Amino acid sequence: MNNAVQYGNANVYRVIDLDPFTLPLAFLFPGASIAALGAAATALDGVHIDARNGAVHLAVQSHLIRFAGKIILIDSCVGEHKPRPARPDWHQRSNSPYLANFAACGCSPDDIDIVMCTHLHADHVGWNTRLVSGQWVPTFANARYLMSQTEIDLRASETAHNPQTNHGSYRDSVLPVIEHGLVDIVKADDAIADGATILALPGHTPGQIGLEIATGGPSRAVFCGDAIHSPAQVYQPQWASAFCHDTAQAIRTRQMLLARAVADDLVLIPAHLRAAHMRIREKNGAMFSVFDA
Ligand SMILES: [Zn+2]
Repeated sequence: MNNAVQYGNANVYRVIDLDPFTLPLAFLFPGASIAALGAAATALDGVHIDARNGAVHLAVQSHLIRFAGKIILIDSCVGEHKPRPARPDWHQRSNSPYLANFAACGCSPDDIDIVMCTHLHADHVGWNTRLVSGQWVPTFANARYLMSQTEIDLRASETAHNPQTNHGSYRDSVLPVIEHGLVDIVKADDAIADGATILALPGHTPGQIGLEIATGGPSRAVFCGDAIHSPAQVYQPQWASAFCHDTAQAIRTRQMLLARAVADDLVLIPAHLRAAHMRIREKNGAMFSVFDA
């Protein structure tokens, strides 16, 4: 059984699709180096980075939340049977652990009320659909899928110019759920459940959104998508990923989020974090991350 982490009235499970997902540090964050992390490299080594080989370890996972009488799934990973020839570890996957990991949370895909896509990159929408008799059908048939209009418009227009953009994921993982009438458009400050509010996190993609939950416990929890890829960026917030749409805005959004996390003692839950969550502390003007789950 996949054990939930409890934050006030919210129970949160990590549903792993691919872990670790390892990328060279200087590929994910152009210009980055292990040396620039200083002492933090030792603190993060093994779980979040591979200091010796200059790599970053991420998890490709969904977060399943039971809160306010709803079951909410945040992001849907890589998926199966998707043609992703540019990325061999994502290409035509089968027998992945995802659905078994999902069942270990004590529910089935049919139980999901809300699938929230923080943004529409291929590693966040894959399980939106699955292949049945040659057709892409919604995996979460009873759910409303929440997306930002900015994201849909961007991916639709990019795909019209080049169907292979973003690994072709718009056509096989987004369009089918739109065509099934399952998508609702959300924007900043919308409440998707009592106490769960959409947050704008632009930069990594123009319409990226997060979810902030007033848990009823001492801290609010913020599911922040790819506004932070790795805790290494707590120490080097100016490290933007090679996949960020607007680097300057991605950095501003991250700095805003980190500053708020310190001020409000937020529980931060980035999409790819290889831990339940992190909190951010500040000492002598420098930020650092704490993993206390
Ligand atoms: Zn991602």
